[in-house]
Amino acid sequence: MTRIALVTGGSRGIGAAISEALKAQGCTVAATYAGNDEKAAAFTKETGIKTYKWNVGDYEACKAGIAQIEADLGPVDILVNNAGITRDAPFHKMTPQHWHEVMDTNLNGVFNMTHNVWNGMRERKFGRIVTISSINGQKGQFAQANYAATKAADIGFTKALAQEGARAGITVNVVAPGYINTEMMSTIPEKVMNEVILPQIPVGRLGEASEIARAVAFLASDDAGFITGSTLSANGGQYMS
Ligand code: NDP
Repeated sequence: MTRIALVTGGSRGIGAAISEALKAQGCTVAATYAGNDEKAAAFTKETGIKTYKWNVGDYEACKAGIAQIEADLGPVDILVNNAGITRDAPFHKMTPQHWHEVMDTNLNGVFNMTHNVWNGMRERKFGRIVTISSINGQKGQFAQANYAATKAADIGFTKALAQEGARAGITVNVVAPGYINTEMMSTIPEKVMNEVILPQIPVGRLGEASEIARAVAFLASDDAGFITGSTLSANGGQYMS
């Protein structure tokens, strides 16, 4: 049976790797993005995966976007809440705008997306929700009070919803990545990478986006029906909770 998967922020970075892993697993995939049309077009050209643009922080846009995807591809079986942003600042310098932008995308976005696929999954008695949290939601991180708050909230949200979905055949899980080799990491100076970051990671290297993607693809598979409410840490041993 071909499953329909929707990956938010699925056009680049970790999300793109997730979209590709789900496609390789046999799913029909829709990937969303916020505004980077050029990157999304290049991704579709390269992979054949259709992309859709809207802001996950906007409830009505999520509702309309999901309705469009379901009209194009069919009912969504798998939702991966991957879209996320950072607006880092030490708390004494953090502005309400820093706070609210991160809440809108990382936390309200998870509600807006999940709420708009939930009833359909309940009716069809099947669903897979996987949300991408972060090691920094598990352990906290300097200058990330906003980001860490949202990523910790993903875990509470997941544990609550897993209980509601269990009898309806819907599993709800979190993957919490550590440092992943993405565009963001390539801007870090070599000295900081070698002397500060890598020594914190027992396996001695950054993770690859494809490694996060394979963990997500497993949790999204039909085989993972007995796993719900869990947080899968993928951080090279940096933090063991
Ligand atoms: P990127 O910045 O590379 O990509 C983010 C994606 O999300 C893009 O497709 C972007 O669209 C989309 N997006 C951002 N804001 C919105 C929005 N408001 N509405 C819809 N789409 C949006 O992110 P990463 O690959 O680095 O991170 C992916 C996830 O993994 C995030 O949740 C992040 O917090 C988490 N994570 C990342 C780690 C890392 O090391 N990179 C470590 C731990 C967790 P567009 O291209 O249009 O901007």
